[in-house]
Amino acid sequence: MKNSALQERKNKVFARGQGNAYPVYVERALNAEVFDVEGNRFIDFATGIAVCNTGHSHPDVVETVTKQVASFSHTCLMVNPYESAVTLAERLTQLAPGNSPKKAIFVTTGAEAVENCIKIAKCHTGRRGVIAFNGGFHGRTNLTMAMTGKIAPYKKDFGPFPSDIYHIPFPNELHGISEQDAMKSLHTLFKASIDASDVAAIVIEPVQGEGGFYAAPPPFLQQLRSVCDEHGIVLIVDEIQTGFGRTGKMFCSEYAGIEPDLMTMAKGIAGGFPIAAVVGKADIMDAPLPGGLGGTYGGSPVACAAALTVLDIIEREQLIDRASELGALFVNRLNGLKKRYPNTISDVRNTGAMIAIEFMQDSDVGHANTALTQAVIAKAAEHGLILLSCGFYSNVIRFLPALTMSDDIANEGLDKFEQLLDGLLQGTQELTTP
Ligand code: PMP
Repeated sequence: MKNSALQERKNKVFARGQGNAYPVYVERALNAEVFDVEGNRFIDFATGIAVCNTGHSHPDVVETVTKQVASFSHTCLMVNPYESAVTLAERLTQLAPGNSPKKAIFVTTGAEAVENCIKIAKCHTGRRGVIAFNGGFHGRTNLTMAMTGKIAPYKKDFGPFPSDIYHIPFPNELHGISEQDAMKSLHTLFKASIDASDVAAIVIEPVQGEGGFYAAPPPFLQQLRSVCDEHGIVLIVDEIQTGFGRTGKMFCSEYAGIEPDLMTMAKGIAGGFPIAAVVGKADIMDAPLPGGLGGTYGGSPVACAAALTVLDIIEREQLIDRASELGALFVNRLNGLKKRYPNTISDVRNTGAMIAIEFMQDSDVGHANTALTQAVIAKAAEHGLILLSCGFYSNVIRFLPALTMSDDIANEGLDKFEQLLDGLLQGTQELTTP
């Protein structure tokens, strides 16, 4: 079977809205490598968008999931619960930062977790307003799309949007937005658009994921914590992309030493099995009535079994430390490229194993090199690499290696990336955005 033939079949039956980054159809994947239907091997720097932190088909996950499916696959948590869900909630509430008693709910996708946070925050506060950040990403459902802070492709032509959602700038030193600027915008918003006493929640990613791997400075998160405390606003930290060891901590909020009121968890939680969670302070979590939260598939027994095993693997294989090690390895290599191409690479940054390289044009940080970013993505498969772009300005390549990736594979993949970039930049014509 050929990739091109499969892509042709897909294009006929899938709406273009559900696109795919590569016409590379997977046959199997193991740890940090993906093999396609044509027998090609790829080094995976995407992990299904930060999901397979413990690598593809980790043998322990395969074993527990197989066992679980053989005993039962679904009863619905809201009909007949099972011990694995209780144990998982116990472990997640223990792992969440801060000392307040916590409770959890399980849902199926990241967007659903964010939506439920908003429901819980509104129910708890009796307020209407939600504040999110420019460049933030929270999902593709009607509410989470409205909370997302980037128009194309996420919001374009999908309006009108739910009301009472406000956006303020995310601090981004590289692009000239200081913490003070962002804080000032929040206070201006309280004066101009919505009184702080009407705000149910402020939602922030500690490192913007789809937005470009920009980290919120810890003092900024601490200030947000104080503002929320002062005004009775629920602070929601969206850890969907940053969670489960990815950033060199179990949860990224730990860098700032803050305790979120509510946290979202998904992606890396279960090695690819669809489960997401809201974990938060017990008194806030208990605001909605019984039956007000949940769903048919939320907390699937198969996903709960996988998640418990993933937590064991993170601990046993010391993957939180490994995230920092991998981050250092990548940044070291990518900084070499930055030295070689100082007029084109504006920044190399990481928080643990959320690693990014940003492209500019003509030595101007403010002039995004989207064309080069697109060309890198387009060429990646030819070089045996799976790469993802991101960024408010669509000019960032993000690296999300499995935390179980060996140094050898990481270096092999980075060699390929280097060859790819050399090939694109050492021609006579530098790629530029028109
Ligand atoms: N929040 C963040 C921070 C995310 O990175 C994502 C997914 N990229 C979502 C929410 C939405 O998750 P899902 O695609 O599972 O709905």
